[in-house]
Amino acid sequence: MTIRIHPLHCGDITAPAEVFQVDLSGPRTVPVMAFLIEHPTRGHAVFDTGLRPDMDGRTLFGDYACSLPAGHDLASRLQAMDVDPAKVGRLVASHSHFDHLAAADLLPNADLYIQAAECAQALEDHPKSWGRRALELGHRRVLTGASHDLFGDGSCELFATPGHTCGHQSLRVKRAGGHDVLAGDACYFCETLEPLGVQPHPQDREVYLATLTRLRGMARDGDFIVPGHDLGFMASIPAQSALTPTFSPVSRPPNG
Ligand SMILES: [Zn+2]
Repeated sequence: MTIRIHPLHCGDITAPAEVFQVDLSGPRTVPVMAFLIEHPTRGHAVFDTGLRPDMDGRTLFGDYACSLPAGHDLASRLQAMDVDPAKVGRLVASHSHFDHLAAADLLPNADLYIQAAECAQALEDHPKSWGRRALELGHRRVLTGASHDLFGDGSCELFATPGHTCGHQSLRVKRAGGHDVLAGDACYFCETLEPLGVQPHPQDREVYLATLTRLRGMARDGDFIVPGHDLGFMASIPAQSALTPTFSPVSRPPNG
């Protein structure tokens, strides 16, 4: 049984690099990713949503300049792959931040898999916060914990990777010799793992570092850690790579 993972590039954010990692400087443009998980018999899941179309051209929270050209949003990306967004049954939120959950309305009929702690906290945010608005769209919620079997067959496990936020979760997909791990914002860049890169404002620094140390251990044991916002890394994933047989190259439309 082969699970396919299709990285979908759904916008970019340009911000001072030090908002991502304390020892970086200068402006940095990072991709905002969603991932289509294609199960051979149990349908599709989507991990994170990318930016919302109405964020294009806006600078959010003073630092995050958002770009989402027409055709790059999650719904367009899925349609380009002949996947009907209305038929996607599972949406996984790594966490509730604007670049990961805000476009949940593009998958109107999906069940929303989110950590219980993350959901509780986001629902206490300002009513106009991106995460809270996305949570209140009416999706059926599946509240997850330390571990959750996404398709019920052991192939894809959601597991808690807290620290960036209180209820951050990542996804690991089983393959021969290890897992492919969608880390989300538990790990921004390739260089975040060796040596450990420190985010300036994790919700809990000690917990964040413990999670990062765990991910580094998984990488050393043969797992393939996919960082949340590293364009060079995503672009380097070749089709049918021996290292990542489950991966497709980053999806791009013909014009870009
Ligand atoms: Zn992010």
